Amino acid sequence: MNLEEEKGEDNTKEREDEDWSKPFLEYFQQAILPKDKSLREQIRKRALRFVYVNNTLYRRSYDQLWLQCISGKEAQQVMREVHAGVCGAHQSGPKMRLQIKHLGYCWPSLVSDCERHARRCHACQINGDFIHQHPNPLHPTVASWPFDMWGTDIIGPIDPPSAKGHRYILSATDYFSKWAEAEAYKEIRAEDVVRFFKKHVLYRFGTPRRIISDNRTAFKSIKVYHFAHQHKIDWRYSSIYNPRANGLAEAFNKTLVRLPRKMTRKTYREWHEKLPETLWAYRTTERTPTQSTPYSLVFGVEAVLPLEVELPSLRIAIHNEMPFSKQAQLRLEELEALDEKRLIAQQNLELYRAQMTRAYDKLTRPRTFQEGELVLVLRRPILGRHHGPKFSPNWEGPYIIDRVYEGGAYLLIDKDGNHPMTPISGRYLKKYYA
Ligand SMILES: [Zn+2]
Repeated sequence: MNLEEEKGEDNTKEREDEDWSKPFLEYFQQAILPKDKSLREQIRKRALRFVYVNNTLYRRSYDQLWLQCISGKEAQQVMREVHAGVCGAHQSGPKMRLQIKHLGYCWPSLVSDCERHARRCHACQINGDFIHQHPNPLHPTVASWPFDMWGTDIIGPIDPPSAKGHRYILSATDYFSKWAEAEAYKEIRAEDVVRFFKKHVLYRFGTPRRIISDNRTAFKSIKVYHFAHQHKIDWRYSSIYNPRANGLAEAFNKTLVRLPRKMTRKTYREWHEKLPETLWAYRTTERTPTQSTPYSLVFGVEAVLPLEVELPSLRIAIHNEMPFSKQAQLRLEELEALDEKRLIAQQNLELYRAQMTRAYDKLTRPRTFQEGELVLVLRRPILGRHHGPKFSPNWEGPYIIDRVYEGGAYLLIDKDGNHPMTPISGRYLKKYYA
């Protein structure tokens, strides 16, 4: 019942999107305004924010950017690409919206469309975190500037291993910009750790002041001591220094582990092939703590994403028209603005930390379900699944609520009319959006 209503609403929405720009195009191309008086006034007023150049409609955003207006079908393509495509990180609606704006596109129902697109993604729903989970506690250290301090961690053993036999991922995250590096290994020895840091950190971003890791043997070896001593790096071990010091590296690992799982639902033994793509997606997606993409905090501009070349944005169009001297000057101005950008990011980091502490005290919301609703069930060890712990989805279903019992228990039924399990507590269920 619910399902059909939602679908119906969807169709009208898409029809509206299809021709929302028509009155504006008529106005700019032929100076025709709608016959209806109030509509005519509305278009005339709204048209002030639009320009029509080279057969393309642009709208000025409130922060004075010119955004290219696109139609329903193109909008769908952009949302698909931004959410789950090459540069997509399966981010939430608000993050998708920001990224689409960064890319330079707009349409009137952008906000609600992104919200709905993210909410309905099957991979996101199946792989979402358990709702009662507390946010990750944050380490009190706030790094001062990019590449001053790195957190490092080992993920694994991963079951099943990749097709090439990799079982572990070694990762490093810059505390300030959230720039991340990672590589897959069959096993990780101390010399791998040293080689990884030379190749991915020292020879790329310079020698950091501090590296923080946990107490694994690969980190606590004489080779690592020597390496740190030689480069005057203050290598700290989290359980001695502070049990939560590694919170940041763990936050990245969560993303890292979840991304290949979503991208390669059926062929996840190829996860090692997806690692560079996953890193790229992580670096070009806005991170909540800094409210910036790691890429922009490192390079001062947003990266050119594959989508922008396929569906040329205004940014690229202008750039290609510009003489080289002008481009160079612009680049210098961007770099000058980089310091300011990083200062803002630093403030955001501090604000975020304060918010996280408050969020920790919040009470969890009770959830109740009605007969006929679609739900997902949290996968627990008790259900006895054959996949390994890291790459299997967290949720299974969707199932339908067949009966509601006193005390918040529910009997579920699948689409073939079978009962997949005995009645289950609502604690382990969440709503599924079809
Ligand atoms: Zn998704």
